[in-house]
Amino acid sequence: MHPNSKSMSIVAIVGRPNVGKSSLFNRLTKTRDAIVADFPGLTRDRHYGKLEIQDSQFLLVDTGGFEPKNKEQIVQEMALQTKQAINESDIIIFMMDYRKGLHPTDEHIADVIRKNDKPKIIVINKAEGILDEKAFSDFYGLGFKNLIRLSSAHGEGISALKDFLLSFGEAIELSLIHISEPTRLLSI
Ligand code: GDP
Repeated sequence: MHPNSKSMSIVAIVGRPNVGKSSLFNRLTKTRDAIVADFPGLTRDRHYGKLEIQDSQFLLVDTGGFEPKNKEQIVQEMALQTKQAINESDIIIFMMDYRKGLHPTDEHIADVIRKNDKPKIIVINKAEGILDEKAFSDFYGLGFKNLIRLSSAHGEGISALKDFLLSFGEAIELSLIHISEPTRLLSI
């Protein structure tokens, strides 16, 4: 692929059910699902949508959509979904719910995420109006460096998230061109 051709980084949103993944997905995407046909190898039971930030384009993946039957199944399913998302994406958005606080399943997901070195951004959703950083100390305790507060429903923190994605996306593109691994770049 020519270095100047347009490319898309794949961004997966992972997190427990009900933290607000779909709300963020819907806020960020303009087109959804229809474009999936052009990307062989992607899991079909997920939502895919196009996210444009300035001149960069991202394929956003919402990993939600299953109904867990019990606590054990949530943990297993989350670990599986998270691993799959990590495998098929370039950037991970890990979402937690400010109102529910840090949940044991969040810690399981964090363990899975921590084990790989793909760029990741931690978003604490449903945090509308919460400005004091101390309110997020439990989440900071997981040890991730990129953490932002968000309200998918009210639009707070969205531009900070976009800034992160833009910087990650550009870094990925540059390094991929550098090591010339064209299979990781998707033509649009
Ligand atoms: P998902 O299961 O992780 O995809 O979560 P959803 O996007 O379906 O959201 C779960 C619930 O949280 C819904 O009732 C949303 O309206 C609510 N929700 C999502 N984002 C926010 C937010 O930023 N603030 C508040 N207060 N509620 C939210």
